[in-house]
Amino acid sequence: MTSTHHKLIILGGGPAGLTAGLYAARARMDHLLIEKGAEGGQILLTDWIDNYPGFPDGISGFDLADKMAAHAKRFEMNSMFGNVVSMDLGEPIKQLNLEDGTSLSCDSLIICTGAHPRPLGIPGEKELTGKGVSYCATCDAPFYRNQHVAVVGGGNTAIQEAAHLTKFADKVTIIHRRDELRATKILQEKAFANPKIDFIWNSNVTAIKGNDGVEQLQLMDNDGKESTLNVDGIFVLIGVLPNNEMLPLADLKADDGGFIPTDLETRTAVAGVMAAGDIRSKEVRQVINAAGEGATAVLAAENYLTNLS
Ligand code: NAP
Repeated sequence: MTSTHHKLIILGGGPAGLTAGLYAARARMDHLLIEKGAEGGQILLTDWIDNYPGFPDGISGFDLADKMAAHAKRFEMNSMFGNVVSMDLGEPIKQLNLEDGTSLSCDSLIICTGAHPRPLGIPGEKELTGKGVSYCATCDAPFYRNQHVAVVGGGNTAIQEAAHLTKFADKVTIIHRRDELRATKILQEKAFANPKIDFIWNSNVTAIKGNDGVEQLQLMDNDGKESTLNVDGIFVLIGVLPNNEMLPLADLKADDGGFIPTDLETRTAVAGVMAAGDIRSKEVRQVINAAGEGATAVLAAENYLTNLS
C-alpha cells in the first residue's frame, strides 16, 4: 500500500475543484486534485452555458470544462484520477482511501464532489435507463431526431435542456408537478415561445412502460386523474442528489439531504476541511457560485495551514 501526504487535497474536478486547483497552484501550495471521471463535473451534462461572465456569446459545458482545466494546468495544477471510497477526517491528518487500495493523506481537504441527477424512483425507470430513460439531454438528445420526448421537471435544468432537445426531437412535452415553473424567467419565456414545446401541468409520471425502449408514460394529475402519454423517450431533470458516499456524514454534520453545511468561508464542522460547489448545503447551485466557492476554500485552507504551522 502506498501513502502520499500533501498539505492540501482537493476532491473533485468540477468547476469548484478546478478553480480551487487554479488558486492552489498559483499560491504554490503543495496540493493534489483527485478526480474520479472526466474533469468538468456536471457542466459536461449541460449543452450550453449562457450565464457565465466573460463569455458574451455563451459557451458549451464541454468547452468551459476544458478551458477551466487548461487554465489550472497552465499554473501546474497537480492532479490525478482516482476513486476515493472512504476517508478518516482526523485532526490534524486526514486520510483518503482509494478504490485501488492506496491511501493519501493531507493536512487540509477541500470537498468538491458535486451532485448527480435525482431519479424519479418509479416503476420502469431503472429497467429502461439507457433505453429511453435519460438524465442528460446533452448526451442523449441526438438519439431522438424527429421523435416525441417528455421532460420531467420545472427547474432551470429541465427548461434549458427541453429547448436543447427541440434541436432534434419533433415534439417535447414538459411534465411538471405544479402550474408554475421554477426556472428563471428568461428560460421560461423561451420555452413558452418554442412551438415544439408543450406542457402538462399539475401532473406526475407514475410509471414508465415499454419493452426494449420507452413507449408510454403513465401520468396522474393532482386531482388523482390518470392518463397515458405515448413518447419515445423521457428525460428526468428534477434536481440533484449529493455525491457523498465517501464522506463521513456525521462528522461533517451533513444536512437532511446529505449536503455539507459550511460557514461563509466554506469551512465545514471539521477543522481543516472545506466544502465548495454543489456538495455544499445551499439554495443556489450555479457554475459561478461553485467557482467562487472553490477560490474561497483555498484561501480558507491557506489560513488553516498557516495557523497549523
Ligand atoms: P431544481 O432547481 O431543484 O428544480 C427541480 C425541479 O424538479 C423543480 O421544478 C421541482 O418541482 C421538480 N421536482 C423535484 N422533485 C420532483 C419529483 N420527485 N417529481 C417531479 N418533479 C420534481 O433543479 P435543477 O433544475 O436540476 O437545478 C439544480 C441547480 O442548478 C439549481 O440551483 C439551478 O438554478 C441550477 N442550474 C442553473 C442553470 C442556469 O442558470 N442556466 C441551468 C441548470 C441548472 P417544484 O418546482 O415543484 O419544486
